[in-house]
Amino acid sequence: MNIVDLRSDTVTRPTPEMYEAMMAAPLGDDVLGDEPTVTKLEQLAAKMVGKEEALFVPSGTMGNQIAIATHTKPGDAIIVEEEAHVIYYEVGAPAMFANVLTWTLPSDKGTMDPTTVEKRITSANLHTPGTTLICLENTHNRAGGTIIPMANLKEYRNIADKHGLKVHVDGARIFNAAVALNRPVKDLCDDVDTVNFCLSKGLRSPVGSILAGPKEFIDRARIWRKRMGGGLRQSGVLAACGIVSLTKMVDRLAEDHANAQLLAVEIGKLNGFTTDSANTPTNICLIGTETSAEEWQAKLHEKGIWCFPVAANRLRLVTHADVNGAGVQRTVEVFAELAK
Ligand SMILES: *Cc1c(COP(=O)(O)O)cnc(C)c1O
Repeated sequence: MNIVDLRSDTVTRPTPEMYEAMMAAPLGDDVLGDEPTVTKLEQLAAKMVGKEEALFVPSGTMGNQIAIATHTKPGDAIIVEEEAHVIYYEVGAPAMFANVLTWTLPSDKGTMDPTTVEKRITSANLHTPGTTLICLENTHNRAGGTIIPMANLKEYRNIADKHGLKVHVDGARIFNAAVALNRPVKDLCDDVDTVNFCLSKGLRSPVGSILAGPKEFIDRARIWRKRMGGGLRQSGVLAACGIVSLTKMVDRLAEDHANAQLLAVEIGKLNGFTTDSANTPTNICLIGTETSAEEWQAKLHEKGIWCFPVAANRLRLVTHADVNGAGVQRTVEVFAELAK
């Protein structure tokens, strides 16, 4: 049976070009600071997001947690959307590593209201913790790959500057947002201090993320990376794939978006399922299920369609390069058959 794996865009396998790049990459020891391929990737990544420097890290989770720990001190508070990956899917890491508390705010499809953000800022005194960081997520995973409007980014920046806060964006899929908006990714990073993005999702690398920001920040982030066990040696074999990701794999994300849109439109027509195709701007299609999403997952799995339930009555389908048009078509057919 042909499997259509829509569990996540992380499942993409390295391309032949990536294997060739791994073979050809000049290598060194990145902990000792002489890994030429990692350095090349970091410089390319920093340039693309418009930051002074970048740091290659093993995972998006580690990149986010390094960022939070580097921006804050124990006992600080950070403002974060209530279903953000950094708190929902990172097993309590901000409490364990940075030792910060989180002011969690509701959102409209992943975008927090700037006025609400500003009201939530507390200053350090005898009673309240000092709020020192606003943490954004673009695109927003649990909201369905939604994009933070550019005007909001500017507003968060102004609020942060007014109150002396930093802004970090968990941009695991920020390239998806950039492609959907038809803008260079740098535009989406100009108003934040630091950005973290995944090479290992739609950009098809097997492993790795990038954390980028000012040089002074990256110097301190590098220490946190070592402390967390993320200092790698001949990581040029992985960085070589990352270079292919950044130079060859960005534009094709548009195909994933078209496929997710198609799923949202077609599955939305079926009995027992609801979708919101107008709010499916990138590669994550959320499907409301009248009956248990877990039961639907099992039924779909039997037919070779793999996906995850992300709430009691919600399935998530993530499109990526290893699912082609035929796979998407088959997915729609299986949903239609089961919906009868
Ligand atoms: C996938 C993801 C991450 C990081 O994931 P890793 O699996 O640790 O690389 C961070 N934030 C968001 C929004 C994500 O979707």
